[in-house]
Amino acid sequence: TEAYLAAIDAADALNAFVHKTPEIARRQAGFAQTRLDMGMSPDLCGIPMGIKDLFCTTGVPSQAASRILDGFRPPYDSTVTELLHKQGAVMLGKLNMDEFAMGSSNETSTYGNAVNPWRRQDDATPLTPGGSSGGSAAAVAANLCAAATGTDTGGSIRQPAAFTGIVGIKPTYGRVSRWGIIAFASSLDQAGPMTKDVRDAAILLRAMSGHDSKDSTSADLPVPDFEAMLTGDIRGKVIGIPREYRMDGMPEEIEALWHRGAEMLRAAGAEIRDISLPHTKYALPAYYVIAPAEASSNLARYDGVRFGRRARLAQGDGITEMYEKTRAEGFGPEVQRRIMVGTYVLSAGFYDAYYNRARRVRALIKRDFDQVFADGIDAILTPATPSAAFGLGEMANADPVQMYLNDVFTVTVNLAGLPGISVPAGLDARGLPLGLQLIGRPWEEGDLLNVAHSLE
Ligand code: GLN
Repeated sequence: TEAYLAAIDAADALNAFVHKTPEIARRQAGFAQTRLDMGMSPDLCGIPMGIKDLFCTTGVPSQAASRILDGFRPPYDSTVTELLHKQGAVMLGKLNMDEFAMGSSNETSTYGNAVNPWRRQDDATPLTPGGSSGGSAAAVAANLCAAATGTDTGGSIRQPAAFTGIVGIKPTYGRVSRWGIIAFASSLDQAGPMTKDVRDAAILLRAMSGHDSKDSTSADLPVPDFEAMLTGDIRGKVIGIPREYRMDGMPEEIEALWHRGAEMLRAAGAEIRDISLPHTKYALPAYYVIAPAEASSNLARYDGVRFGRRARLAQGDGITEMYEKTRAEGFGPEVQRRIMVGTYVLSAGFYDAYYNRARRVRALIKRDFDQVFADGIDAILTPATPSAAFGLGEMANADPVQMYLNDVFTVTVNLAGLPGISVPAGLDARGLPLGLQLIGRPWEEGDLLNVAHSLE
């Protein structure tokens, strides 16, 4: 714990931790030591972790990297952080992210972006660690914590993991309780671990999972010992390569990475099969209707009364001015854009044309996956991202749709509620990490982790 606390202080330039909690960390580490001395060693005893700012943590700022939650210190912990603490984990602090988890580069954060510890071999441009769990990814990659929590609504665990050369898994929707995690799009959000390797991901996922009566969408299913399932044996497994993910203009090195991944799995005894997921091309537009729709509803609660910040009011201002001023200065531009898109697609007259149509597309996307799994596919292999990490500022200043295109390989998984994992798979020509994504059958994270393990 002391070594990590020192490393965090020395790495302020990465802007990964937005609130450091050294006192809590030392207290928890002391408690872990006592448990060890008494012969108890729960799974995570004394493991120093970073927590994404989206998770509520008792008495510690939990702001979703938004100005509107300035001063908010929740009086309770999220179920995930409580589970981690019960099993002995140590919290080093809260990690940077995109505001309300909306973004793919960590640049919408009110704290300013986190920085990727990786650099291109031939130029020193600072790079994004990805988003929204960019602080989590940067912190794990730079050894500022042993592991971190992340959340993934459309790729926010898997894309930053790929950009920083670490492992990130988004479990099946319902595997991990969402209680106490600040909501973005409730039918898509899932929390998961971001780690150095697949074994750590297996250990942490088990610790975070399980039924929670406080989240009615959490599943009442047994949580297997995922670590014990890492046999490395994938003989006879059938891996699907979806042809619709071979996008026009896909960079050659992403194509080559994908091919190499398939060859590694084949060499390990898996069968590789071409498959079709015909509705893939509608996933991104459907996601960017559904996610903002749900966000606009979830974010209605930030009104200057119940949480965090209230704008300074002028003489004669009434309740309407209070809402307007608070929300205008509390939410950043990307969050405001999502609220506007969301309220538009939900409004009378447009609801059927946009929201309902997106929901129908979502059902078709899910059906595509059901079909290939019914045909005997065990896991699906795709690239995690369409490129390696890009330069800070490079996309933030462009058309927002450019940024949304980052999620092209990841959003289908959230729409279908499936588990997906990103594993590091080598470096590109400029020395930057690239990730491969594996998508699994619902509730079969153990098998998915085992296939991912064979790519390490
Ligand atoms: N980049 C996507 C978005 O901005 C996904 C974010 C996430 O998974 N939280 O919506």
